[in-house]
Amino acid sequence: MTEARQPDPASPDSCAGTGHGGQLLRLDEARERILADVVPVTEREDVGLRDALGRVLASAVHATVDVPSHRSSAMDGYALAGQDLPSSGEAAFELVGKSLAGRPFAGRVGRGQCVRIMTGAPVPEATDTVVMQEQVRVDGNRVVIEAGHRVGQHVRAVGEDMHRGDLAIGAGTLLHPAQLGLLAAVGVGQVAVLRRVRVATFSTGDELRPVGESLALGQIYDSNRYSLYGMLARLGLEVIDLGVVPDSREDTIRAFEAAATRADAIVSSGGVSVGEADYVTETLERHGRIGFWKVAIKPGKPIAFGRYGPAYFFGLPGNPVAVMVTFYQLVQPALRALMGAVRPDPPILVRATCETRLRKAPGRMEFQRGVLERQPSGAYTVRSSGHQGSGVLHSMSEANCFIVLPLEGGDVEPGAEVQVQPFAGLV
Ligand code: AMP
Ligand code: MG
Repeated sequence: MTEARQPDPASPDSCAGTGHGGQLLRLDEARERILADVVPVTEREDVGLRDALGRVLASAVHATVDVPSHRSSAMDGYALAGQDLPSSGEAAFELVGKSLAGRPFAGRVGRGQCVRIMTGAPVPEATDTVVMQEQVRVDGNRVVIEAGHRVGQHVRAVGEDMHRGDLAIGAGTLLHPAQLGLLAAVGVGQVAVLRRVRVATFSTGDELRPVGESLALGQIYDSNRYSLYGMLARLGLEVIDLGVVPDSREDTIRAFEAAATRADAIVSSGGVSVGEADYVTETLERHGRIGFWKVAIKPGKPIAFGRYGPAYFFGLPGNPVAVMVTFYQLVQPALRALMGAVRPDPPILVRATCETRLRKAPGRMEFQRGVLERQPSGAYTVRSSGHQGSGVLHSMSEANCFIVLPLEGGDVEPGAEVQVQPFAGLV
């Protein structure tokens, strides 16, 4: 834990008016409050390019070479001096050699001569123009070229992509495949990235059993443990799985202690409503700091955000779909910020015609699970993926998008236009 990440006692979101029975907080307000509180990790480590995938660049990288580093051909064809091109009719050139990628032409090209050249190969000195192979006639070592070409065509200039010293990638960039390729292209084989964020998770509930064991009456399998693992691992985080925590004050405190000593953030599921056996918020209130509690979304209304020691805490609801919805809408952006990623991609929202009737009461923003399809006409349609209960994982598994219904809206009739957040790109 670095100095920069100590709790800020003056933080504005110490739950004013949003505790038990308080007002509902809008999703965007909740997201803003969390993001305002998150201070990114700063420790860095050097990694090779492959290991940099999915990591956040710690400092800016500049090109160590010009890209491309030589004048090169953009086409397969023939390199020649542009001044020799015919202004009308055609001209014959003498073929004097070839220049391949990685194997440049070593000789000299004189007036009226040309060189066979392949894409990426160095353009020989004294030539400045490439004519595509499809546009010539070859007869032995005579290459006949018609008028109509432009001097300098199909030649990539030195540094056309980047010059040596140019900024290649800014600090705080999440490294995707394109950035790995660019780093290699500018001659950088090792980069400083921010250290991996460590996240501890636990599930709360006396009813939970690990998969593999048999279920007694009233027991269910701990599914949140696995969906949470998947969502966290996808972000490239180090996941510390603390298993199931029974519904008791002592066990809950013990879990928080274990989590906070090892992790930058804690994500739990269950135990945040005001039921009798909900010790998560109680523990936070007594031993940590709790932010807000009720967000105007469905599923997922009761959510806790706060600190336990230096660790950020996200207390998600117990219902399996609510866990996933609240994770993607609130926790994922916060963890990306904690990872040090700047310029997060804006969420992708698509307009689609809804094919099924959707039940919705005004007052909360809803994330219903849907199946988005692109029709042959190019138009998008969406339909419900099944039962929308906040515990029904099957409709989440069948879905490929969230149907995002606005706070004040009511039922949606077939044929109405709705906003859809595709899972692709989100997860
Ligand atoms: P809670 O928020 O603890 O009251 O839990 C709400 C609902 O989610 C209850 O029906 C729980 O049984 C269920 N639930 C809680 N945790 C899990 C879990 N880890 N896996 C599956 N279901 C859960
Ligand atoms: Mg519970």
